[in-house]
Amino acid sequence: MNLTLSIIYLISTVTFVIGLKLLGHPETAKKGNLIAAYGMVLAIIGTIFLHDFEVPSINYILIGAALLVGSVLGWIIAMKVEMTKMPELVSLFNGFGGGSALLIGLVEFNKNVGVEDASKASASIITTILAAIIIGSITFTGSLVAWAKLNGSMKDLRLPKYNLINNILFTALVAFTAYIIVVNTDSYMLIYILLIASLIYGYLFVAPIGGADMPVVISLLNSLTGIAAAITGILYGNMVMLVGGILVGSAGLILTFVMCNAMNRSLTNVIFGAFGGDAGTGAITGGKSGGTIKKTTASDSAILLNYASKVVIVPGYGLAVAQAQHVIHELEMLLTKKGVDVSYAIHPVAGRMPGHMNVLLAESNVDYDKLIEMDDINPQFPNTDVVLVVGANDVVNPAAHNDPSSPIYGMPILDVENAKHIIVNKRSMNAGYAGIENELFFNTKTSMLFGDAKSALTELVSELKNM
Ligand code: NDP
Repeated sequence: MNLTLSIIYLISTVTFVIGLKLLGHPETAKKGNLIAAYGMVLAIIGTIFLHDFEVPSINYILIGAALLVGSVLGWIIAMKVEMTKMPELVSLFNGFGGGSALLIGLVEFNKNVGVEDASKASASIITTILAAIIIGSITFTGSLVAWAKLNGSMKDLRLPKYNLINNILFTALVAFTAYIIVVNTDSYMLIYILLIASLIYGYLFVAPIGGADMPVVISLLNSLTGIAAAITGILYGNMVMLVGGILVGSAGLILTFVMCNAMNRSLTNVIFGAFGGDAGTGAITGGKSGGTIKKTTASDSAILLNYASKVVIVPGYGLAVAQAQHVIHELEMLLTKKGVDVSYAIHPVAGRMPGHMNVLLAESNVDYDKLIEMDDINPQFPNTDVVLVVGANDVVNPAAHNDPSSPIYGMPILDVENAKHIIVNKRSMNAGYAGIENELFFNTKTSMLFGDAKSALTELVSELKNM
């Protein structure tokens, strides 16, 4: 590799590391994203024009056309996507990453193993190629299934004894791969069997996962995409692909552990499919206790908030759907002006993507110091006068503590029921993502403020202004 290209790759690698570091805080995330993107553009340009390709001539027209189509499509999709649809987009892009890795694996098999004397291909090359095909395929179908589930076009699929089937298939995949490496084959048939088995495993791995467990699987697939990219980097001896892949893979893995903690799952549980919750009926009727709910109005809620000393706002998915982040910030500033101590309780899986609430509230310039993580805010609830839950449901569901039969049992939640008063804003008695009922709504301390978050909060703000 020539020196200029090595320097370009080094610069790109540094931009990835800096970008990742800056992504760690909402204030600097945008800048970090841009820096890493510039680094990627640099690496692509450097590779196209300076890489020492083995082929006699390189087809710049084909490369240019592919880049143009990909960039235009990517641009349009990214400009159009709503914030609440972001996890779907991430899943789809993960799938594309996995698909690329599996195609590269097939091409390299053809180049290194298939047509040449099989005995010349070293075990390490075969292992790397097979790893690209397997991980790429699992990521490809797994991500497409995650995408279809997130956009509601696919329901959970649980075959009888699905854990057993998945574990047998996984073991068979590992054994079959070992066999191919040992016999050092040039058989396309075996490779295609491995490819199809991996695609099926990716499908079966994600298909049964339901309820509130999707965040874990999304970050795991994200990590797998990185690992697939790193493996293709090894195949091409390309340093920037390798480092980029490792960064995505390890960042995704760290996120997976964070998500596992947030969902109270072990990684073994995740990998071997021993998790997932049954989706409920979707609508909550009367609570297990057959209790009744207490409705409230914007003016009564405003009175409660106006005379409180400490208020905690719990934002959830519904806040994002309603795009009510600006009006909630206005409410927070108004209350603060009136001398109320206001903060936001941030649950790690609130919304539909990791960090969703932080990103959403950053959009409306909420002070970061006011965003308090779950472990820090939970001890504060007993001293809180009013908790205002806006469009959140699963993350405040006490069934996670009280009901061993609940699919979210064991998941850490925001313990809002310990506060003196709870106001819950949502549009109806419908369930949240996990599809289960929420006893909190029937708690005697809870008042339900029904309505779209944006309209309800706007009304609340105008009531408060009149006080
Ligand atoms: P939930 O999905 O549990 O609940 C959201 C609630 O918002 C619903 O009950 C809905 O009730 C209400 N809502 C919807 N639209 C509006 C609106 N316009 N105005 C007011 N309310 C509205 O959200 P949570 O944030 O509490 O929990 C997140 C869930 O998503 C968890 O189960 C988590 O595991 C899962 N998840 C999280 C991911 C992540 O990475 N963060 C990724 C994928 C899933 P109604 O219809 O009655 O208004």
